[in-house]
Amino acid sequence: MIRSVLGELMRRQPLEWCLYENLRSRFPMIAAIEALQRLREGNQRFVAEIRNHKGLTETRRREVAGAQTPFAIILGCSDSRVPAEIVFDQGLGDLFVIRVAGNIVAPSQVGSVEFCAARFGTRLVVVLGHSQCGAVEATLEALRRPSSEQSQNMGAIVERIRPSVQGLIETPLAQDKDALIHHAVRSNVCASANHLRHGSTVLEELIESDGLLVVGAEYSLDTGVVEFFDGVPA
Ligand SMILES: [Zn+2]
Repeated sequence: MIRSVLGELMRRQPLEWCLYENLRSRFPMIAAIEALQRLREGNQRFVAEIRNHKGLTETRRREVAGAQTPFAIILGCSDSRVPAEIVFDQGLGDLFVIRVAGNIVAPSQVGSVEFCAARFGTRLVVVLGHSQCGAVEATLEALRRPSSEQSQNMGAIVERIRPSVQGLIETPLAQDKDALIHHAVRSNVCASANHLRHGSTVLEELIESDGLLVVGAEYSLDTGVVEFFDGVPA
């Protein structure tokens, strides 16, 4: 029998559950597919240099001061050129953003996604990688030329990326640097998305019975376009 995680939350944390239900009834969360459309439109505005400033006004700041209802969770890379709120043209209170080099998934990232999905009812999770990701390049470099110069902490990031990219350097892709990094970035995004889909009972249950969707995307540093390529419903 599948254990009901939300049922468990209800039983163990009645106050938390009441707040969640109260919030959900006051601000019904939009469905994942609608959230995805909102991100697509925001990215199109960003590329076209048409900004929506309504989300950055004092009025909006006051509106969200008491409570947040972010419509999407973004797990993105820390790269200074890929700020989620800007590339999706969103404002205060719109996105719950987790950024870490290489958009890797470790327990604290899973916990952050669980927190937002369970607390605020957010139904879309986007793993956002990007072209020419330094963390992915560093992993490919470490696979080619293992060295002990890397700090243990940076090594921990490389170790998270390694399983999804190491197979690629044994293929003909290894001869083409640009193609290799392109495939490695996407493979790493897919690995993180799969980890979120299958590495947490809370998220698994929300996916199975409450409309949570986890998709993978890549941002192009050159064009500014975000391409959603993994897990998007047809
Ligand atoms: Zn990066």
